[in-house]
Amino acid sequence: MGKGVAVVVGGSVAGLACAHAAAAAGWDAVVLEKAAAPAAGAGGGTGAGLGLDAQSMETLARWIPGWGLDDATLPLAVDLNRATDSETKAARTLARDDGFNFRAAHWGDLHRRLHEALPAAAVTVLWGHQFLSFEAPDDKPGVVATARVLRTGETVEVAGDLLVAADGSTSSIRRRFLPDLKLRYSGYCAWRGVFDFTGKESSETVTGIRTAYPELGNCLYFDLAYKTHAVLYELPRSRLNWLWYINGPEPELTGSSVTLEATDAMVSRMRDEAGRVWCPELARLIKNTERPFVNVIYDADPLPRLAWAGGRVVLVGDAAHPTTPHGLRSTNMSVMDARVLGACLARWDRLPRATAEYETARRPVVAAQVVHARRLGRVKQGLPVDGEAQGFDVRTVTVDEAMQLRQRTMPFFDGAPTADASDL
Ligand SMILES: Cc1cc2nc3c(=O)[nH]c(=O)nc-3n(C[C@H](O)[C@H](O)[C@H](O)COP(=O)(O)OP(=O)(O)OC[C@H]3O[C@@H](n4cnc5c(N)ncnc54)[C@H](O)[C@@H]3O)c2cc1C
Repeated sequence: MGKGVAVVVGGSVAGLACAHAAAAAGWDAVVLEKAAAPAAGAGGGTGAGLGLDAQSMETLARWIPGWGLDDATLPLAVDLNRATDSETKAARTLARDDGFNFRAAHWGDLHRRLHEALPAAAVTVLWGHQFLSFEAPDDKPGVVATARVLRTGETVEVAGDLLVAADGSTSSIRRRFLPDLKLRYSGYCAWRGVFDFTGKESSETVTGIRTAYPELGNCLYFDLAYKTHAVLYELPRSRLNWLWYINGPEPELTGSSVTLEATDAMVSRMRDEAGRVWCPELARLIKNTERPFVNVIYDADPLPRLAWAGGRVVLVGDAAHPTTPHGLRSTNMSVMDARVLGACLARWDRLPRATAEYETARRPVVAAQVVHARRLGRVKQGLPVDGEAQGFDVRTVTVDEAMQLRQRTMPFFDGAPTADASDL
């Protein structure tokens, strides 16, 4: 028996990281995930690339044996912002940072490894369990979560001491405490794709892209053109990850996913447009990527609190801080939420104390990072910031002005407080 039971809703990166952290703190964890199995829903071939900072890499290595020592990640040692002139297709460097020290990973690999490394004695993952509701009555300690077993339709109850809401950016648990909080459309969507070049290393697409972007495999490339930008980096096992942000009105979404089903006509228009905006090598990569998809980009204003119901419910991951992706924060913040929650659970026997300390440590960090990522995205998309009439214009920007594009302008870039004893 552990010191307590954490009922974790959501078995993606934040949920599984919290299960690891709770187990390391001497707690048991029960994870409720609606996806039927890791391969079918939350893992498998799904997902694309993500960038992990040094603090996340070190934290993940505590939970995943060999993490960082094997080939699951590639270096992103350089953060490079360049401007593309869409008329001439010439590129010029705007801002370069050789001390970036991130690593690139595939979301599916990270998720699978987190899952495989869970300590079976302390953690149970209930796949195919859709969380419905919870009770945290004032006159009794603990929480009781109700979930539907999707395969049978049966309803089950899971009791614990703490409810960890890791149910993503559209969190239903958050809605119970903050019914009026709305996600905020950023003003743009991202086309995304992963180009698998296994066995195609000498193809025109790959030799071309390596010539135009010679530091692939070590560099996070940001290409800025007038009021738009693209991101390109290499992933382990012969894959290239790209994103292209396009300003426009908010599209209509069905359900709770922020991914849009792209029609053939949309894909074909996007590919034509890529040839107009980007250098031929990037346009060719985009054209030859199968099944590109669209993410509608949202975030939310920082939440007033992360711990609720007398400290018996905490929000973590995207549920706690929906963010735009421009600071590569989503996964990094999730990993640190879990680490800090674990440190607080390890130190305090009484929950309100532990979860209050979690909130005190994490709230200022995630608030500052979400707000900064929002600003960075608007700057790179040429949208006005800070009440200015005009947005950033990549065609006329000076070297000094371009310094704000660097990832290291992110608050807590060198690491967030960990709530370990040494931080206090
Ligand atoms: C399939 C998938 C692929 C992804 N790919 C990438 C990627 O390539 N690059 C990247 O940067 N980020 C990716 N992300 C997002 C990334 O995981 C998050 O941005 C970040 O790591 C924070 O994760 P999270 O666990 O808080 O939220 P999420 O990853 O959104 O996970 C929320 C989880 O909660 C589950 N859930 C929600 N409601 C319920 C409910 N009622 N009952 C039970 N379970 C519920 C969802 O099924 C999901 O697994 C992906 C997320 C998913 C789910």
